[in-house]
Amino acid sequence: MPPSAPAGPSPAAAQAPPLTGTVLHRYPLSSTAGRRARVDVTVPITTLLGGDAPAYVTSLGPIPAHDARAHAAHSSIRRLLTDPASGTVLDVGTSTYRPPAPLAEHVRHRNPVCVAPGCTQPAIDSELDHTVPYPAGPTAAHNLGPLCKRHHLLKTHAGYRLVQPTPGVFEWTTPTGQRYRKLADGDTFHLEREPEPTLADRDEPPPF
Ligand SMILES: [Zn+2]
Repeated sequence: MPPSAPAGPSPAAAQAPPLTGTVLHRYPLSSTAGRRARVDVTVPITTLLGGDAPAYVTSLGPIPAHDARAHAAHSSIRRLLTDPASGTVLDVGTSTYRPPAPLAEHVRHRNPVCVAPGCTQPAIDSELDHTVPYPAGPTAAHNLGPLCKRHHLLKTHAGYRLVQPTPGVFEWTTPTGQRYRKLADGDTFHLEREPEPTLADRDEPPPF
């Protein structure tokens, strides 16, 4: 018996094959029309980080954490990464550009104002920007942030670089190499300049 199991498996469970990727494909994933059905794997984020909470596969039910991690890495299976506390889906991958309403609400709750340094435009009045442009970047909490229209345009067209090193934290580099970090609570810090400025070393203040 695995040391983590609170009780021995039932006889039926003991005889069932392990839910590995190979076994999943024994199930009827194709319809009679020959089109492949979609399989949703709902995985708590803590499970992907090594936790023991089970994941759930549509029509199959719970699967062990280590199998969930294996399935989440399988490109043909849509991942539904969830917040274990609220159940909110945090990552829908590249299945859709537009975040589902609960995901959009989660991001706007996490970052209640525009993520540009110094900007106080409420998130509810801002657009949700893919930090890494879609579809190279997924529609996921760790790749979304509210930007007011002005700063969305600056980010998209004016040579400003933006990264989200951890969900809800945004680091900006202006075209002149000035760097800022804005936290989810709105606090903004001036970071050291990059060693190699991206453009001529001008000393202009950023238009924030
Ligand atoms: Zn803004």
